[in-house]
Amino acid sequence: KGVVHRICAGQVILDLSSAVKELVENSLDAGSTSIEIALKEYGMDSFQVIDNGSGISPQNFKVLALKHHTSKLLDFPDLQLLTTFGFRGEALSSLCALGEVTVETRTLDEVVATHLTYDHKGIMTAERKTARQVGTTITVKKLFSNLPVRSKEFRRNIRKEYAKLISLLNAYALIAKGVRIVCTNTTGKNVRSVVLKTQGNGSLKENIITVFGSSTFSCLEPLTLSMSDGRMVEGFVSKPGYGSGRNIGDRQFFFVNGRPVDMPKVGKLVNELYRGANSKQYPIAIMNFSVPTRAYDVNVTPDKRKIFFSDESSILQSLRESLEKIYSSDEA
Ligand code: ADP
Ligand code: MG
Repeated sequence: KGVVHRICAGQVILDLSSAVKELVENSLDAGSTSIEIALKEYGMDSFQVIDNGSGISPQNFKVLALKHHTSKLLDFPDLQLLTTFGFRGEALSSLCALGEVTVETRTLDEVVATHLTYDHKGIMTAERKTARQVGTTITVKKLFSNLPVRSKEFRRNIRKEYAKLISLLNAYALIAKGVRIVCTNTTGKNVRSVVLKTQGNGSLKENIITVFGSSTFSCLEPLTLSMSDGRMVEGFVSKPGYGSGRNIGDRQFFFVNGRPVDMPKVGKLVNELYRGANSKQYPIAIMNFSVPTRAYDVNVTPDKRKIFFSDESSILQSLRESLEKIYSSDEA
């Protein structure tokens, strides 16, 4: 049973960034306006997500981390209209299978908070009172330590894993409205450094300036596109000749209705139309697609990063025309 559970867990939690992503999305679903991600040793020792959201009510303590427990579906009679990030109740149970999970939480109805401990099967093994403001802190220690091969890989690739995590947090920081996001990392000698800090009260433009700086922002050209069926794209791409020498994907962020997603076809299109001053450059691209929730399906891959649009070619074509206007004007 334990083994089967761990194999399934592998589908939602692939690595450090997908683990943290699930926790951050739970915090967003809980209506948080402040989310802090605290890493120890780049996440290898532990990671913690601390929010000021709704908290978890006592009746959910025992079932919280059991597979398929979710409090979210009930509120949504029509699955298609779901607007929360989570709805399958897999993240916490998967995290329990892969690491040591504790939860501290308090709702507005409680005068004190509760500290909860879960075992690898998601069964609650301890409960005690503690002090905390309203909100939730979830701590995961020793991710993958019960899977020797994964654990070794994780440590060996920690630089890459960490970079991927920071890029993901940058994505949330870029799109967040009214949510403050802070990420810290504490290393060996108790040196705590702030790796990311946003106030989250800005527009996309202001968020770009906070995350990447105003000199980066000055190299960007706004892009807006509205289609007759109500779909919209809003964002920024590098001005002609102002690409980034960095790796592809490093500064390309795509969102659908505020949710970070992978859009390889859109990325490919921007790269293809962009004309850099030298061929080693890639354009920065930050785009939010606003579409009616019925027009796409997020439930395609377990990590919910891949999106299917119902009429993908028409949106790609319109996007191509907008990008051509930016990139084929007076350059070359
Ligand atoms: P899902 O997000 O798909 O519902 P999860 O396994 O991620 O499933 O979380 C299980 C449940 O735990 C959620 O439905 C929610 O009720 C509760 N929960 C998890 N994290 C938080 C949080 N930060 N604040 C409030 N409730 C939370
Ligand atoms: Mg979730």
